[in-house]
Amino acid sequence: MLKIEHLGIAVKDLEQSNLLFTKLFGKAPYKLEKVESEHVSTSFFMMGESKIELLEATDPNSPIAKFIEKKGEGIHHIAFEVSDIYAEMQRMKSEGFTLLSEEPKKGADNKLICFLHPKSSNGVLIELCQEMK
Ligand code: ZN
Repeated sequence: MLKIEHLGIAVKDLEQSNLLFTKLFGKAPYKLEKVESEHVSTSFFMMGESKIELLEATDPNSPIAKFIEKKGEGIHHIAFEVSDIYAEMQRMKSEGFTLLSEEPKKGADNKLICFLHPKSSNGVLIELCQEMK
């Protein structure tokens, strides 16, 4: 793993949270993006080497809606950048971690992504992501 690419924060109302975090960070998100496959609307703030991703559910079946229902708003996942997501997924598997998908998916911000089940990583939801070229 190369670095923390971003932290994902689950929010109920993206528009309101964009205003709140713009105030907090002193800058606006550089990108708003809907990810249909994950049933989320997202915004990204650049924070030096890393980013903050805000995620709002677009429907009640979204993993974000379920997360907020169970735990409330807050930090949802940590995303790590990898140079070869296929190799890293194989490595994770052979180390005994549980992957949430067999193949990488297309995520927000031009990335291939894969999540690890939080049960296999001390309750932390981990996202692997690789820039699509
Ligand atoms: Zn993410």
